Amino acid sequence: MNKKILIILPLIFSSFIFAENLKSPTSYSKNLYEEIILSGNYDKKIDHPDKFLDFNYGDRVASPSQIHDAINTYKNQSDKLKVVTYGYSHEGRPLHALFISSPENLNNLEDFEDKLSRLSDPRVTNNRQAKEIIESLPAIAWMSYSIHGNETSGSDAALGLIYHLIADNSPKTLNMLKNMVIIIDPIMNPDGRARFVKSLEQYRGTAPNYDDQSLIHTGDWPYGRTNHYYFDLNRDWFYLTQPETQGRVSLINKWRPQILVDAHEMGAQDTFMTGPAREPINKNMDKDLLKWGNVFAQDQGSEFDKRNWRFYTGEWHEDLYPGYSFYVNFRGTLGILYEQSRMAEDGVKRPEGTIQSYKESVHHQFVSSLVNLNTLLKNTKEMYKDFWDGRKLNISKDSKWANQSFVILPTKNKSRLNTLAKKLQSQDIEIYINSEEIDVVNVLKQTGDVINQFTIPKGSTIIPNRQPEAPLISAILEFDTEIDEDVLKKEREAALRDGSSIMYDTTAFNFTMMYGLEAVTVPENLKDNLSIWEPASVEIDVDENAIMWIVDGTDDLSVTFAARLMEQDVQVRIVDKDIILSGKSFSRGSPVVIAMDNPKNSMLVQLIKNTAKNLNVSVSSLYTGFGSEELPDWGGRHFRLLNKPQIAILSHEGFSSYDVGVSWWSLDHHLGIRHSQLNTSMIGYADLRRYNTLIMPSGYRPLNQSEISVLKDWIKQGGTLIANNGSTRMLVSDNSITSIKDVSDSFENSHDYNIKLQREFLSNNTTIDLDYVNNNKITSDISYPWEATDNRIDSDTLQKRDKWQSLFMPSGAFVSGRVDDKHWLTFGTIDTLPLLYSNFPVLMAGSGSKAVIRVGELINDNNQDIYKTINWSDIPAGNDLNIRMSGLVWPEASTRIANSAYLTQERYGKGQIILFSGEPNFRGSSFGTNRVWLNAVVYGSGMGTSARINP
Ligand SMILES: [Zn+2]
Repeated sequence: MNKKILIILPLIFSSFIFAENLKSPTSYSKNLYEEIILSGNYDKKIDHPDKFLDFNYGDRVASPSQIHDAINTYKNQSDKLKVVTYGYSHEGRPLHALFISSPENLNNLEDFEDKLSRLSDPRVTNNRQAKEIIESLPAIAWMSYSIHGNETSGSDAALGLIYHLIADNSPKTLNMLKNMVIIIDPIMNPDGRARFVKSLEQYRGTAPNYDDQSLIHTGDWPYGRTNHYYFDLNRDWFYLTQPETQGRVSLINKWRPQILVDAHEMGAQDTFMTGPAREPINKNMDKDLLKWGNVFAQDQGSEFDKRNWRFYTGEWHEDLYPGYSFYVNFRGTLGILYEQSRMAEDGVKRPEGTIQSYKESVHHQFVSSLVNLNTLLKNTKEMYKDFWDGRKLNISKDSKWANQSFVILPTKNKSRLNTLAKKLQSQDIEIYINSEEIDVVNVLKQTGDVINQFTIPKGSTIIPNRQPEAPLISAILEFDTEIDEDVLKKEREAALRDGSSIMYDTTAFNFTMMYGLEAVTVPENLKDNLSIWEPASVEIDVDENAIMWIVDGTDDLSVTFAARLMEQDVQVRIVDKDIILSGKSFSRGSPVVIAMDNPKNSMLVQLIKNTAKNLNVSVSSLYTGFGSEELPDWGGRHFRLLNKPQIAILSHEGFSSYDVGVSWWSLDHHLGIRHSQLNTSMIGYADLRRYNTLIMPSGYRPLNQSEISVLKDWIKQGGTLIANNGSTRMLVSDNSITSIKDVSDSFENSHDYNIKLQREFLSNNTTIDLDYVNNNKITSDISYPWEATDNRIDSDTLQKRDKWQSLFMPSGAFVSGRVDDKHWLTFGTIDTLPLLYSNFPVLMAGSGSKAVIRVGELINDNNQDIYKTINWSDIPAGNDLNIRMSGLVWPEASTRIANSAYLTQERYGKGQIILFSGEPNFRGSSFGTNRVWLNAVVYGSGMGTSARINP
């Protein structure tokens, strides 16, 4: 609270209301910890942090604006500080990196940056030059704090550290600044911190609260951990979806610091944890960095010992996923993690009866930072030498990455490819394009199959991996990440013992599968006849004399184009089949605006042109509605009229804030159209008629019967309900709103599900025997698919097996999705769509519903002439099923989810229900499934419900 308000408030109360004063507390938490954090020989001309706070430094949580005030003042008070603003958060708060060093060094930053970039590329630098550079460079440290906004002590430590470094005149600190550039990123997630600081104010009473379960400690939904759109910024380091990460990573990559400290907090009853990590550790990481990790941890540990502070290393801290701050390890920087037990403000009572204060937690972070800086100062030259050796290895022909190239096959989905290419290039990854076909051998497909002879089509995107960023490239593009046998053994034992896991995050994450782009890995260093990759040109041809205008439906921006025009009340149709018009071919799912549909819109041509320009998407003018040969014509049933989506997202307590946030972000980021977030407790009395599309992100809150009946009525009247993961599980188990079942409730009818599946298989691939068809006599020789198999498993056995198999469900791995390529929900997707799969509901679609995407790619297996039975389902003779694409999927899990539905669609009254078993918008990066979700949101109301005519 502001000091001024504190003074004014009693005046207001005393003059208007005869309110009784609140009782003063029996104790004050500020007296809990007597140690002084800031104890240097400080320059009086630099303001002490207390000056910017309403409390003594370290007693409470400084708000982002208080820390920013200090930074803005220090900038003018000190010549040992240079502030770089590397971006702004969604809520408009600045993101600062503070360069702290001697004034001489600060004048030479450009020179250092240049030297670092030369030291990073042995193709332009030789050993002698490298030695000179290493001799002349200061040590460089990147110190970053509180990426999770409610893990506050880090940023408070940063405030003290900034002051200490610029104000302390002791020889030790002066020497440090002479030999080091210290870059401090004090508040990595200002929006999350602001949210948490607000909740600290809101839940404060008179007496200090030491109970870590109370609201002042926990905060409330959506919590301060995440940023404005509820993204976990410490999972975004290479996906780069958020402004905080985009700005930060680009600056870090320019500066290539030797260490990067990332200060967090963990459970209140814990102690303090730092590196190095335990297995699984991503195999692309430089072994030298693991060695250095130990050196830093030892120094930090001895300082903690000396001060009687408990700590540990390793334990739950693993490093398989490259999207944590340990991302920097793939680029030659040592990542150092701090996890301080979380004290919120007042302190926390522990089982041994002591109370740990907030100030002490700030002190731990502060001391750790200084110890790490000193360790770096001692070892900087040795670390630079290791860095240089690593960089040389990356481009040498002897590295494990040398004979490996990643190839993204050409796609009409220009915008998606451009987005990926931009993300790769922004991480200094060199990418190319080929203008001629290239013949290669032993090519690895995403499904794990190896093709002996393969021709890379021209126009492919090629990333040869003999380049300076080889370890990073491999970490984020390799189809499968190596996991040690020993880790797998421990993981399996943990699953069997108590259903736990030693994996802290997803076990699959590669970019091309996330993006739903077809790619191959070639076991050679492709380098001939390549040119630097550039985005394809965009042609906006909007002729006012045309009869209609069309955007190709493969491009994700086609959905945006349609959504934005509909929002401006333009009537839009969609062509639900591949088509050739005016000599040009377009994919199914192409939105088209027909002049005759919009007779009264005088601005139509301008609107289309502006929308296309704004989105930078190609548009074509068409002059005839006659589709050549058997292809659709413009008056037929394949030109389907869309319905303007009017969207609400169910939100608040009981829903996963991540899934709510990413749904919200997807609408804002991919579409930019209006929508409402509803507090779910309002369903019962809100006027749902304002919306025709309701999004139910993954959730854990069961709806009560009256809420269910409100939803049912709304759907019956034409609404489109789209649910993800937890909410899908809830709707399925409710049993009254959808016919879809979870596999564990389906075994009594498993035969029926199998017959439906066989119909699907045969409807996609049937051979005709003319003699059989034209036979005039009745025949007893009719084949029934389910009779071809003799391996029928009874429901008791299925039930038992299912229980066992469910112990082994994946925690974020890619499995193959088999898409129904005639369904409108799959516009713009590839045939085998990678699905990021976890412990999701395993969906069974019976009659009356459609399984739009199922798990498992059907492949030819010529050695097989019998039906294979997998649990409840059969696979037609001559086929096999590919399930696992990337990451850890135990065979038991593959068997359990084989042929189940990932996505279902069913009619309900005049409306429809669309269920995703998973979370299609994961981390704003699963573009493959995100497209399907966007189709559901934008096209659902027009494509899957009865058209409404306003009389
Ligand atoms: Zn954290």
